[in-house]
Amino acid sequence: MQKKRLVIIGGGFAGLNVAKNIDKTLYDVTVVDRHNYHSFPPLFYQVASSGLEPASISFPLRRELTRRCYRGCRYHMGDVRAIDASAKLVRTQYEDIPYDVLVIAAGTTNNFFGNTELEKHVYTLKSTPQAIRCRNEILDRLERASLTADAGARRRLLTFAVIGGGPTGVEIAGALGELKRFVLKKEYPGIKENEVKVILIEGTDRLLRTMSARSSADAAKALDQLGVEVRLHTMTKSYTKGIVELEGGETFAADTVIWTAGVQGVAFDLENTDVKPSFGGRFDVDEYNAVRGLDDVYAIGDIALHMDEKYPKGHPQVAQVAIQQGRTLARNLSRPDSRKPFEYHDKGSMATIGRNRAVVDMGKMHLSGRLAWMAWMFIHLISLLGMRNKIVVLVNWTYSYFTFSSGLRLMLRPGKYPVRSYWND
Ligand SMILES: Cc1cc2nc3c(=O)[nH]c(=O)nc-3n(C[C@H](O)[C@H](O)[C@H](O)COP(=O)(O)OP(=O)(O)OC[C@H]3O[C@@H](n4cnc5c(N)ncnc54)[C@H](O)[C@@H]3O)c2cc1C
Repeated sequence: MQKKRLVIIGGGFAGLNVAKNIDKTLYDVTVVDRHNYHSFPPLFYQVASSGLEPASISFPLRRELTRRCYRGCRYHMGDVRAIDASAKLVRTQYEDIPYDVLVIAAGTTNNFFGNTELEKHVYTLKSTPQAIRCRNEILDRLERASLTADAGARRRLLTFAVIGGGPTGVEIAGALGELKRFVLKKEYPGIKENEVKVILIEGTDRLLRTMSARSSADAAKALDQLGVEVRLHTMTKSYTKGIVELEGGETFAADTVIWTAGVQGVAFDLENTDVKPSFGGRFDVDEYNAVRGLDDVYAIGDIALHMDEKYPKGHPQVAQVAIQQGRTLARNLSRPDSRKPFEYHDKGSMATIGRNRAVVDMGKMHLSGRLAWMAWMFIHLISLLGMRNKIVVLVNWTYSYFTFSSGLRLMLRPGKYPVRSYWND
């Protein structure tokens, strides 16, 4: 029997779980990803705050695919730009890849809600390169502030605004708070703690809206202890020329604004079909993750929108949904005669706000403080791909726990030349 060509767009949590669990005697599997590594988004903020090196939260896809459970799977580097639904082709900047079955697992990207000015000037945390950029810029501000005596310039350089009070916003604001409280006096003696302002701006009435009210309150308290100013019920209107303008007219100067306030599905040109992504740029799927209106095309993870009675607005965009959808889809494609509808088993959620400060919700159980922080560390450690990464991360965390220090405050910027002008990318 000839194998079907299964193409998976995205080697994230969702895509890799399909590749790992699918029956390779039935499918010839190709994973296409714009990066040649698997990333671990929950720890991007630690790269941005110089807590971890990028390599320790990334894992080479080619190396991962050599494992026995992926035997026969191939990796193709490429940024998927179009899907031709009638010719059954996936188009990257380098090639057209034919498929019999397509799995879209490309996740999400930043959403600036049409504000192109904002998009051009804020820093983001949706990929490892973005996290590295953010780290470089934070360090750049501290270095520049150390060089100037001008009070206005120092205020602008040392004001860090984080927009969006979800887990990512809370975590990066907490990390900046720790920098202000514990690192500056050791490593930047020219900057006083009270000169640094970290402002977390959230449009709704509480932080961590997807978690319990107790978690929101505990997170706000922990941020306050770290000297982070939390502004609730506050919408950001614009950010131009270094000035943040809030709805209502208030303005303040900040040279660093980190945007964590919105995500949307990665977009592709959909050729020879009328199907369009639904709200949030997510593909509307049925209970088997089949994209409605497209033959042999499935969407899983953050980019899928599966609405049911329990989740009328779709499942939360978290790693567990992606992993579980990947596994279920692999099983269903491997055993088409006994398909099972997807059912999400919520294992709880957590966020950290710095050392000894975290919040965990598991069913009706709520934890905060050191115990929650240890649970957070344990879960994140075991979820990382690769033993080397687990060890490196553990060593880094242990070292910085006792020393309040990090050897990673490095501004590593790529060189500008040579320009690779005649290549497609
Ligand atoms: C900063 C941050 C913190 C988070 N913290 C948590 C947390 O603490 N707990 C939690 O459960 N979840 C967290 N999440 C959410 C979690 O990371 C996602 O739910 C999960 O990664 C979704 O998995 P996925 O496979 O759908 O997408 P991803 O993991 O995003 O993988 C998508 C893959 O597709 C590739 N790709 C994208 N577009 C293209 C294209 N056009 N062509 C080729 N390849 C492409 C990407 O390179 C990537 O490898 C966080 C997310 C972020 C951004």
